[in-house]
Amino acid sequence: MGETTIGTAKRMSRIPPYLFAEIDRKVREKKAAGIDVISLGIGDPDLPTPARIVSAAQEAVADPANHQYPSYFGLRELREAIADWYRGRFGVPLDPDSQVLPTLGSKDGISHVPFAFVDPGDVVLAPDPGYTPYATGAIMAEGEPHLLPLTLENGWLPDLDAVPADVRRRAKLLWLNYPNNPTAATAPDAFFEQAIAFCRENGIILCHDAPYSEIAFEGYRPPSLLQFPGAIEVGLEFHSVSKTYNMTGWRLGWICGNAELVRAVGQLKTNLDSGIFQAVQWASVEALRGGEQDTKAANAVYHRRHQKVAEVLNRTGWDIRPPRATFYVWAPVPPGYDSIGFAAHVLDQAAVNLTPGVGFGPHGEGYFRLSVTAPDARLDEALSRLEKLSY
Ligand SMILES: *Cc1c(COP(=O)(O)O)cnc(C)c1O
Repeated sequence: MGETTIGTAKRMSRIPPYLFAEIDRKVREKKAAGIDVISLGIGDPDLPTPARIVSAAQEAVADPANHQYPSYFGLRELREAIADWYRGRFGVPLDPDSQVLPTLGSKDGISHVPFAFVDPGDVVLAPDPGYTPYATGAIMAEGEPHLLPLTLENGWLPDLDAVPADVRRRAKLLWLNYPNNPTAATAPDAFFEQAIAFCRENGIILCHDAPYSEIAFEGYRPPSLLQFPGAIEVGLEFHSVSKTYNMTGWRLGWICGNAELVRAVGQLKTNLDSGIFQAVQWASVEALRGGEQDTKAANAVYHRRHQKVAEVLNRTGWDIRPPRATFYVWAPVPPGYDSIGFAAHVLDQAAVNLTPGVGFGPHGEGYFRLSVTAPDARLDEALSRLEKLSY
């Protein structure tokens, strides 16, 4: 963007700079030169949305009943499907009228929730590295993000005891995200319990972002925040059909949990958007009511790809551990590189696009993220190029 900030609000200059501009430029140049760049950079399922869901959407698109403005608060049938899914999957009872609010993808909820709760100067606690809308949403609401380091030493869990007293006093929201993007870490039950106690003691709203709860392997079943005692007093969970059902393009997520908090976000949203296309809502009802077969099939694919990435790359001295959940690999860059330098080197030498860890926050430095959401043949080709890479 350079020097021309004329006319933009001060908050715009507080949004952290986009760190991948140089890498994006290189990708464009290579593609323009006819080089076959393989992207393992973006967390977007390559598998199509299951056919039963597409069919439900096709039918709904043809029905004129779905052509007008939808309700701000989503179809009752969708809220019921979400509540039933929570009861079935987590044993969590939710009232579909007061404790569930559909959103235009969970990013909509995540980026806007600070507008409902954060005043200028309030603190928002956010993991570092982390999904960037936690901090940028806080900035847009004129709050102050306070970053909580996630490190290998602390098992990629924030050290809540280390949050200074004055920061706790000013904190309004705490963001957590397990299974985690970008680190692929999972959290033990005791950590959720500790976080709930921390938020109750300090009057902080606990926001758990859980889009990867269904992407897990070898029998691991990630929990919901809301299944732990006391969570409903202080908690909101953010979820989405995006990752579970290969529906990132459809834009449907939801917020659920404490009724008073859900109501505040609902009131805000009547001023932001005009609901979700009902055909997308009906497709999501079909997704949630259709059982776990499709998710199991997708997980088998991700699991197999994770094993292969580790098997191939560890032969040549990489240090890859297949994760228990998510479709990400999070691994250290080789000595002598920073994360952007390594991603640039891999792009130059192998025409493979990885995500530098520092893009997720300062504590992501020294790491890269690789997503196994590329078709098998493309992933195989990328691995054979990476195997030959010298660094
Ligand atoms: C993908 C992702 C989301 C959001 O997905 P939507 O498509 O907006 O529902 C939210 N949080 C994290 C950590 C993600 O990786």
